[in-house]
Amino acid sequence: MAKLFILSAPSGTGKSTIAGKLLQQLEGIRRVITATTREPRPGEKHGVDYIFMSKEEFEEGIEKGLFLEYANVYGNYYGTPRDQVEKNLREGYDSLLVIDVQGAFKVKKIYPDAVSVFLLPPSLEELKRRMIGRGYRDSNAQRRLETARDEIPCAKSFDYIIINDFVDKAVEQLKSIVVASRCERENILSNLKSLVHNEELVRLIEGGECYVQET
Ligand code: ADP
Ligand code: 5GP
Repeated sequence: MAKLFILSAPSGTGKSTIAGKLLQQLEGIRRVITATTREPRPGEKHGVDYIFMSKEEFEEGIEKGLFLEYANVYGNYYGTPRDQVEKNLREGYDSLLVIDVQGAFKVKKIYPDAVSVFLLPPSLEELKRRMIGRGYRDSNAQRRLETARDEIPCAKSFDYIIINDFVDKAVEQLKSIVVASRCERENILSNLKSLVHNEELVRLIEGGECYVQET
């Protein structure tokens, strides 16, 4: 039973950094490459960081219902390609969707079983430093910081909250969430035969009664 993990945070918190490292360290999970009409930043690659599209292509995609959700963020369109999420789940791969907060809410409505994770910056000052460090002009950083103030209280509605003070620690915590959710009872029971390579155990779990009584 593959799962969809939604990693969300104010822009500049470190979503891409944490997601990239998680994907290097964990098998069986694929990143959903979202689409955008914004210009690629230096070093960003089409099909790796984003599917870069023109405004016309994106609007055609909206008409055709290609996006699970889409939003206009800071003057550009961003959208989650429906087919990628469906394909990963069909093929038994967990999916990691790195997305803004409004998108996270929309996707959680469509996939209520998705696991939502909010990444928090250690402080607004540090968030500003990270934004500027990534090369935004000050005015843009100011706008994104104001949006961050609106987004941070939304952390309360997510399944998990990770504080991204240190990259390795945040990656470990995200990894733990993915691994723990793979061990959820429903997940194990619905894949019992492929996970438990012992017929006697499988028979006991599937057909046996739990006789342990509370005393
Ligand atoms: P997002 O995807 O949320 O917009 P990025 O992953 O692009 O954010 O990170 C923004 C900037 O912050 C990058 O320059 C990145 O290297 C830096 N960064 C990310 N996490 C940390 C951290 N824990 N400590 C210091 N810098 C970080
Ligand atoms: P950036 O321009 O910094 O890459 O992204 C701006 C914001 O848009 C980030 O918070 C990023 O996570 C978010 N984003 C990226 N892809 C999508 C998407 O498909 N849908 C939505 N709603 N937001 C997205």
